[in-house]
Amino acid sequence: MTSPVSTRGASGTPRESAPDSPGVFARSPMVARIATLLVFGLAVSAGVRSVHVPPAVVPASAPPEAFSAERAMAHVRQIARAAHPTGSAEHQRVRAYLVAELRALGLEPRLQQTIGIASRFPVAGQVTNILARLPGTGTDGKAILMTAHYDSVAVGPGAADDAAGTAALLETLRALRAGSPLRNDLIIALLDGEEDGLLGAAAFVHEHPWARNVGLALCLDAGGTGGRALLYETGERNASLVRAFGRTPNATGSSAMYSGYRRMPNDSDFSELRLAGITGLNIAISERGDRYHTPLDDPAHLDPRSLQHHGDAALGVAREFGMMALPPAAEEDVIFFNLPVLGFVSYSIGWALLLAVSSALTWLAALVVGRARAKLRLSEVALEALAALIALLAAAAAPFAAWTVLARVHATHG
Ligand SMILES: [Zn+2]
Repeated sequence: MTSPVSTRGASGTPRESAPDSPGVFARSPMVARIATLLVFGLAVSAGVRSVHVPPAVVPASAPPEAFSAERAMAHVRQIARAAHPTGSAEHQRVRAYLVAELRALGLEPRLQQTIGIASRFPVAGQVTNILARLPGTGTDGKAILMTAHYDSVAVGPGAADDAAGTAALLETLRALRAGSPLRNDLIIALLDGEEDGLLGAAAFVHEHPWARNVGLALCLDAGGTGGRALLYETGERNASLVRAFGRTPNATGSSAMYSGYRRMPNDSDFSELRLAGITGLNIAISERGDRYHTPLDDPAHLDPRSLQHHGDAALGVAREFGMMALPPAAEEDVIFFNLPVLGFVSYSIGWALLLAVSSALTWLAALVVGRARAKLRLSEVALEALAALIALLAAAAAPFAAWTVLARVHATHG
């Protein structure tokens, strides 16, 4: 069953060509392969760029209702001058700075001084949380809680972890006060003792009366010094939460990240809130993890665009959820991620199953049609599938092997 393809050349004269030699690509399969690879590679890199590169910095000259990373960066430079672990003199200096900045914004900051007892680890310790409340116009007393932690690890100044989150909240408060008021109250909690076992968060949810008003929480933290601020954890039955978050500017997130994160020993203040039954969103600057908890987590190495994205998320969430009835309705769970061009996408787990089954069926149909038209050989398809599987395993094994070798070398050199 062969039917020669009839085409017309540029001169308009009909010309016959067999299916085996329709053009330059078929005559030179290597050219076709390289071209395909090139186009595919360019499309993938453009896609990856659009999903990973944070938005441009908004300058300090922007209108007062806007979040400006240039303005927030001034706070980061003050907070992350040096390492400021809980209990250090530098930590006290940072606390005094934050209290003064909150007062300058017209708020009345309060200190919660107590012993924080962790729920997740066998640790306890003295903490001093800094709390402030921006009243809304509503009467039900429900509040959005926004948290960052103002302590750092002892080995580095913590510009991203978590001076960035703290600075983003100060700049968000400033921008909110410049605009029209929200319906819901806003509680800003600059928590202490995160690096020692989420002690400040534990103290807030266990002891502070304001914790009972919280209808939604947003935590800002960092596991690196660059890239986008990523929504990687939410409360359960998150459909309405995630959809509202998707309407904020430059919304970026990945539900797959959370699946991985749950299997890691890492934790953040959001864990204590979740255990206390508070729903919400957990966002982190998450690329350049090589600088996380090192002396290189300093203001010079923090990407100001990541700070801008942190602020876009904080201000966006405040404005989006600030007018909603809280807590958001608990519906089904959704999957979410970002796509090039389309941006933030979310759909229910039911849809995910449907998509998986339909793509498997499409693949099978292509196989059957290909066989029927004698275009596919089953042995070749099996070989290609095997090659793809090996490539996948090799891609997973290579970083693991590199990490093992590097860790050995590092241990040898102390
Ligand atoms: Zn942190």
